[in-house]
Amino acid sequence: MDLIKLEQIAAQCKLCSLYMRQDKPVFARGCPEADILICGMCPGPDENAIGSPFVGLAGKVLDEILNRAFSLKHKVYITNLVKCFVPPGESLDKVWMNTCFPYLIVQLQLVKPKVIIALGKDVCNCILRKDDPIGAMRNNVYNYLDIKVICTYHPSYLVRGGGVNHKHFNRVVKDFSKALKYV
Ligand code: URA
Repeated sequence: MDLIKLEQIAAQCKLCSLYMRQDKPVFARGCPEADILICGMCPGPDENAIGSPFVGLAGKVLDEILNRAFSLKHKVYITNLVKCFVPPGESLDKVWMNTCFPYLIVQLQLVKPKVIIALGKDVCNCILRKDDPIGAMRNNVYNYLDIKVICTYHPSYLVRGGGVNHKHFNRVVKDFSKALKYV
């Protein structure tokens, strides 16, 4: 199995009902050998139209966080927990997350990152099998499959409060910077 094959399999996935609403499959972008894997929630309308993760407003904020937290030599691999489009405002169903989770596990096995940066409460809780508030999880660095897990706010949350001017933007940049200790 390699990432190309996995992407082809995920593009044809019909394990839950989400495939019926998706236009372009959205799998990942970035470096397949990255030490840092960034995991978002699910593609939004822009990602669904273009076929790549984090290409809309949340993606612009994510790119700005990456610019501030890392230098060019730090390669990242960006993907989502749920690979299919979920319309804005619809909360993530646990069935969708659990059904899609194995794709993320295989991505972890193939990319072999040293650190996962998990974005938002749902993603953090799904990976860590917890049910905790994001504010509490931000304060720890966890382990999953021998990979460090850093939890932080989702860029979409920052977008809703002014993007780079959001009061928590700098905290998120700091959370991302914690990854540098492990790469
Ligand atoms: N939000 C996500 O979680 N993922 C994307 O790809 C875009 C927005």
